[in-house]
Amino acid sequence: MEIASRLAAILGEAAVITDRERMLDYLVDETASPVRPQPADEVVVARPASAQEVASLLRLANDEGIPVFPRGGGTGLCGGAVPTENGIVLSLERMNGIALDKDNLMATVEAGATLGDLMAKAEEAGLFFPPHPGDESAQIGGLVACNAGGSRAVKYGVMRSYVKGVEAVLPDGDILRLGGKLLKDNAGYDLMQLLIGSEGTLAVVTSVILRLFPPLGASATMVIPYEGRHDAIDSVPEILRSGVMPLAIEYVDRSTVEVSAANLGLEWPCRAGKAYLMVIVDGESVVVVRSHCQHIYEICAGRHALEPAVGETRKDQERVLKIRSNIYLALKGETADILDMAVPPASMGKLMDAVDDIATQFGVTIPMYGHAGDGNLHAHLIKDLARSGPSAVREAKTLIYKETVKLGGTITAEHGLGKTRVPDMHLSLDETKLALMRRIKKVFDPRGILNPGCAISPE
Ligand SMILES: Cc1cc2nc3c(=O)[nH]c(=O)nc-3n(C[C@H](O)[C@H](O)[C@H](O)COP(=O)(O)OP(=O)(O)OC[C@H]3O[C@@H](n4cnc5c(N)ncnc54)[C@H](O)[C@@H]3O)c2cc1C
Repeated sequence: MEIASRLAAILGEAAVITDRERMLDYLVDETASPVRPQPADEVVVARPASAQEVASLLRLANDEGIPVFPRGGGTGLCGGAVPTENGIVLSLERMNGIALDKDNLMATVEAGATLGDLMAKAEEAGLFFPPHPGDESAQIGGLVACNAGGSRAVKYGVMRSYVKGVEAVLPDGDILRLGGKLLKDNAGYDLMQLLIGSEGTLAVVTSVILRLFPPLGASATMVIPYEGRHDAIDSVPEILRSGVMPLAIEYVDRSTVEVSAANLGLEWPCRAGKAYLMVIVDGESVVVVRSHCQHIYEICAGRHALEPAVGETRKDQERVLKIRSNIYLALKGETADILDMAVPPASMGKLMDAVDDIATQFGVTIPMYGHAGDGNLHAHLIKDLARSGPSAVREAKTLIYKETVKLGGTITAEHGLGKTRVPDMHLSLDETKLALMRRIKKVFDPRGILNPGCAISPE
């Protein structure tokens, strides 16, 4: 392919992959039923090592009108990084430097560094990076491009809250530097926030400045069992207004969490109950954390919670988080799609009932769990739905989305639109918003080379 040799001339031979076998991993992500990728012989993978190389690559692609698919760790759940047309997969994996600045509690992180790398490096330096979207092999560029959330967003917020600066390359090769090691910056429109969550459709993120925090003084993870799902879910708004703000409030049910634990060869810490809240609490000392736990448990006991299991050691807490984070992968084999709606937290019970009704219509069970503290629930559309007909997954998804929107919710709280949510995006975005977004896309990417088919396409 001629483009491969031109890329090799810019980036060096070793940075360009044309071999089909080596390329296969770059053609998919973690989407349950992957969008159909372009055949390997029509795609070239490029792995630049600097923002300047990214700029040269994009300039070439823009001049030639060649689609470019930015790629992070490939852990996305809606096909965002999958090349669906002839073009270049732009992997940031070689750009993985991390420089900590303890004085300012910030880190300058290249886009290809993984979440796991950053967490470890921060910890070594006695610092803490709070967000925890479930897969630590996700890259920082991907987390920023998706504005990822995860379990620990309740107290400190989603990725957007941590990003203080962004270096990104525009499709014409211009390098844009936004923000800095600043906690406040009101100069002009906030282009940095516009790029966060833009899913690789406006610019390629090459490096970011992230806010870090002092390490947790002490923490505990409580697993609070309930017999009834509504009691668990209805405890959440009460916890949120209790004055103690947990790092995480997750909802899981017994059947789901046991599959995940068995898949890892681990044991869930509670034998009682059918529904659980997993609540992570931090504080300056063990005494404070215990008092917070007691306070939260008393609220839950008012909603018929049973005796909680409280993990205080790091090992016990990590085990519970690991089981929670593994649910998607444990169920993936049976899953056609995983949804990530959010509704106002007090409406979660209504959404769950609506999803149950839809499941009954199709004669299946639809497992639900998620980041209850954020009103963000996952629904696994299981492959069995297809027994009701070839379009049943699609129909069930749209029905669930409509119920979500009726409750004042959004069809995607954290995974983004990617390529698989595009047919339903009008449910969350009316024509006025869509028209503005298409115009913005056109301003950043007039030739439409960046991630075509993902999220917003130009007019
Ligand atoms: C087990 C599991 C658990 C998960 N849990 C959560 C969770 O709790 N919360 C959550 O929010 N997500 C979760 N995810 C989804 C996923 O981890 C996130 O969406 C993450 O942000 C994707 O990052 P990535 O590096 O893997 O990106 P990729 O999948 O490679 O790409 C995702 C999107 O970002 C774009 N992109 C990637 N890098 C760049 C860049 N440098 N510049 C511009 N665009 C770029 C791509 O084009 C694509 O549109 C989970 C996934 C798995 C498999």
